[in-house]
Amino acid sequence: MTCPTHKRCHATYALAEEALIGAHVAYRYGKGSRPVGVYQCDECGQYHLTSQGEVNPRLQKMLEEGQIQKQKEASWWEEKFKRK
Ligand SMILES: [Zn+2]
Repeated sequence: MTCPTHKRCHATYALAEEALIGAHVAYRYGKGSRPVGVYQCDECGQYHLTSQGEVNPRLQKMLEEGQIQKQKEASWWEEKFKRK
């Protein structure tokens, strides 16, 4: 299913939330544009990430507790071992 907004679609809120957190683990965001939340789309009825509005509470908690950083390091090691 495609959406007129051309954003990536997630079937459920939970999946979109996973993608949101995964994006923060995978990328290093500056203070500028970064996805902070999840919303249900009026066009396609599925869920997209948004860089506007309030920070998703689960993401906020993970950032505060340093869990995002921890997972970043974990996947960094994973990548390192894969290459050997
Ligand atoms: Zn949509």
